[in-house]
Amino acid sequence: MIDLSCKLLVIGGGPGGYVCGIRAGQLGIETIVVEEARAGGTCLTVGCIPSKALIHAADEFHKLAQYDGRSALGITAASPAIDLARTVAWKDGIVERLTGGVEGLLKKAGARLIHGSAEFLDGKTVEVSRDGEPIRITAETIVIATGSEPVELPFLPFGGKVISSTEALALDSVPERLVVVGGGYIGLEIGTAYAKLGARVTVVEAMARILPQYDSALTKPVMTSLETLGIKVLLDTRARGLSDTGLSAETDGEAIDLPADRILVTVGRRPRSGGAGIPGLDLDRNGPFISIDETCRTSMRGVFAIGDVTGEPMLAHRAMAQGEMVAEIVAGRKRIWDKACIPAVCFTDPEIVSCGLSPDEAKATGIETVTGQFPFTANGRAMSMEADSGFVRVTARKDNGLILGLQGVGVGISELAAAFGIAIEMGARLDDIAAIVHAHPTLGEALHEACLKALGHSLHI
Ligand code: FAD
Ligand code: NAD
Repeated sequence: MIDLSCKLLVIGGGPGGYVCGIRAGQLGIETIVVEEARAGGTCLTVGCIPSKALIHAADEFHKLAQYDGRSALGITAASPAIDLARTVAWKDGIVERLTGGVEGLLKKAGARLIHGSAEFLDGKTVEVSRDGEPIRITAETIVIATGSEPVELPFLPFGGKVISSTEALALDSVPERLVVVGGGYIGLEIGTAYAKLGARVTVVEAMARILPQYDSALTKPVMTSLETLGIKVLLDTRARGLSDTGLSAETDGEAIDLPADRILVTVGRRPRSGGAGIPGLDLDRNGPFISIDETCRTSMRGVFAIGDVTGEPMLAHRAMAQGEMVAEIVAGRKRIWDKACIPAVCFTDPEIVSCGLSPDEAKATGIETVTGQFPFTANGRAMSMEADSGFVRVTARKDNGLILGLQGVGVGISELAAAFGIAIEMGARLDDIAAIVHAHPTLGEALHEACLKALGHSLHI
């Protein structure tokens, strides 16, 4: 047994844990990060980045497939082919570069990365099992950043043709018939990609609508696009189990059989709070999540928790922001979680962005509000990109124009998340945005115009 001690020990090297490690190292704190798989966690290895790589490849393929002589753009291309194994190898190369990059950044910051599986012995001590001699680490402060894992349906266990997002991002050929269980973030992002690559995709969603976290005005263009892509979306339908040919599901009390070569189950993710000796600690819980306060402290002195293990929204940028904050707190700086919003982006076709309150949420606070919406049909850049379905919408206080929420849907709109976040976080008012010169022609002009609309004097509609 090797014995080590440090000031800060971080369990998990995902976006939460590695950012915490880098910032702590920069601040001169003696830091160890323990990671049992690969640095970068879910996000870099089997989540955000690999899924966006697959989506990009599918978009490129689909674009070419549309140039069959009927394109209004006058382009004709020979029918494209895809070697998915090569696409996956390319994606793996990106993952390799990023995980190597994270290891390099930790080293540069002076934080030590140890590969192995950590288990709490008590609130100050962790044992790391790994190849070679186990290590016992004693630390003044420990950060739990163990992330999350896919929810498995008991009647549809992973294995064989039933896959999670991890396997879906590493297939060596495009399945002929793909059934996706769950019309949320992952199911729609990956399901759309496979439909664009030629799979016949059916989405089975238990609720009455897709992406229940977004309002229906935002999801409508996505629904239309799913239909155009030939994706069958079965709402109010629940998966029941495997059938001889694929998936057995139930809709309106009736059993249906959906033939499938692969069944992708994406019904949410659950926190990894049941392992690593965490149940042996005296930690308050919020359901399966570890409860934290506005400084990411748990109920146990000297133990912090960050990222997916602490609850919704389970997003990489939330985990990173928490990791950075905790490192600064451990360094003695006064920080609390005082963010006005956490942007959410869904990389469907078209993409959806939401920051702050929706019009209904704003109304529900009792404040008198005003809303302005600008459609991409009136935005020259969107038209020139054949991307004119969608809009930008702003909600502000009626009395002083303070922006409470910004949402949008449209091709390429994910890149407006930064502008939306800046506006809300810096307390912008409608006339602040109205007074800013927005570059022409860009999708960002729709933000300007939505604010002008809310002020009652939009220029281009
Ligand atoms: P994780 O990234 O899960 O990292 C936790 C790490 O802890 C893991 O590497 C794990 O191996 C390690 N670990 C766990 N237990 C131990 C132990 N006992 N000892 C040592 N190490 C341990 N979010 C976005 O914001 N945008 C997106 O576009 C997006 N796309 C996604 C697409 C997919 C397909 C998936 C699955 C997720 C996506 N997410 C996205 C969510 C995002 O990946 C997570 O929110 C983010 O990774 C959470 O970071 P984390 O650090 O909390 O946990
Ligand atoms: P999700 O919560 O987004 O969607 C799950 C869907 O499955 C829901 O619509 C739910 O109603 C449905 N469902 C649940 N049980 C069902 C059943 N038995 N039959 C049919 N439908 C059922 O979960 P996800 O897509 O697995 O993604 C998990 C998390 O990962 C997300 O919540 C998000 O935090 C993160 N993520 C984010 C991004 C992004 O930021 N772009 C992308 C992917 C994942």
